[in-house]
Amino acid sequence: MDKVLLKKAAFQSFSIMIAVVTSSFVLMQYQTVTTAAITITSKNIYGVNDILEIQESFVDYVNTAIKDTGIPIEFSLHKVVQMDRALLEKLGSPIDQEVLTQLSNNYIIIKKPEASQLSITSEDLYINKSIKLMISGVGDTEMSSEKIIRVRGKEIFSGTPSYTEKNMKERDNEGLGEEQPVSTYDNDLSYHIEITHQQDSLSNQFNTQITLQLDNVYAYKIYEDENNYYLDLRKPSEVYDRILVIDAGHGGKDGGALSKDGTVFEKNINLDIVLNLKELLDKEDIKVYYTRTADDKVFLRPRAELANAVDCDYFISIHCNANDITSPNGTEILYYDTSFKGVKSSGLASIFSEEIGSVISLKNRGSIKKQMGDIFIMDKSRVPMILIETGYMTNNADLAYLSNAANRKAVAQGIFNGIMRAYEELPVNKE
Ligand SMILES: [Zn+2]
Repeated sequence: MDKVLLKKAAFQSFSIMIAVVTSSFVLMQYQTVTTAAITITSKNIYGVNDILEIQESFVDYVNTAIKDTGIPIEFSLHKVVQMDRALLEKLGSPIDQEVLTQLSNNYIIIKKPEASQLSITSEDLYINKSIKLMISGVGDTEMSSEKIIRVRGKEIFSGTPSYTEKNMKERDNEGLGEEQPVSTYDNDLSYHIEITHQQDSLSNQFNTQITLQLDNVYAYKIYEDENNYYLDLRKPSEVYDRILVIDAGHGGKDGGALSKDGTVFEKNINLDIVLNLKELLDKEDIKVYYTRTADDKVFLRPRAELANAVDCDYFISIHCNANDITSPNGTEILYYDTSFKGVKSSGLASIFSEEIGSVISLKNRGSIKKQMGDIFIMDKSRVPMILIETGYMTNNADLAYLSNAANRKAVAQGIFNGIMRAYEELPVNKE
């Protein structure tokens, strides 16, 4: 960016700060501080380092002055001013101050392509820690990752995310197979950016799809001004009071347990129970992350990672059991003897065992304690978790019960009742 323009921008954003501070003090009629503000403006400081130095000392000065007066106000304009400057430099287009003040410490700025009729939609692909943005009406200019600016606190990243490979090796998703080198991306919010640019054959309009793979799962909000889109990224726990992760076991190529005659897959029963449960949970003020809502193959590690990343209150995994012989039957709630956020998984298991047991007619086998190493997904979870084995695929009566749609709905109702009771009886310790 042109140096003169940069200086101008720096001065402008500095002036905004002065204006804010000055006007506040004029209102409060504190003459001494007003004078100090005017004195500093008149110094004509342009250099990047200078302006930051003065700004910090200025804010300190103002805060000290306020403290002396006993008025409970503190100024912290540092983020706004500093970010504005650096971003101007990278993007080459002005940032709306109003928007900027609403953003958290983590956000992504996407410079709008030059077009008159832009619109944006998004999709939260949280199981992949990704957010997909669809921008329509972009014209024929292709977008570049250079215009996608990731801001974490005071750090700014643009262009293709770069990584360094550590020597440390880690096992893959299922804890099996090939060892893989681990990549680190420093503090970049995005690990991978995929941009596709396509012309719609019907409308002849050009559309851009941006898939941002992020370092974590975020609750996001999109803002926009004349020049840019802003993707504000926050911890889900900052945004939602109640968070659940519901896991329909298996999926896709992984069918799970199979009925003895080989015709019924566990994955389908699990999914249908979860979809019934979703209908009930949709009516509640609870943010629910589902590991899958379709017949998708999802590895085990990302399921546990999702639960940990969103720091859910309860992580509930739904399965059906199987045995070599056909006689074992009934419902089991599996848990580890662990406690997270003040919630004992054993307590959670008892509640679900009672609630499910009271609405379905399968034998209630109670809650069953498992050991570290028994269940991969439980080994990896750092949140209160249970695994529900609704019934036995290998038992004829259980299978007949679970093959009936109304019964699967009843199982979902039992799980739902368990969730609501858990919120009342086992509140999560929010730190
Ligand atoms: Zn299973």
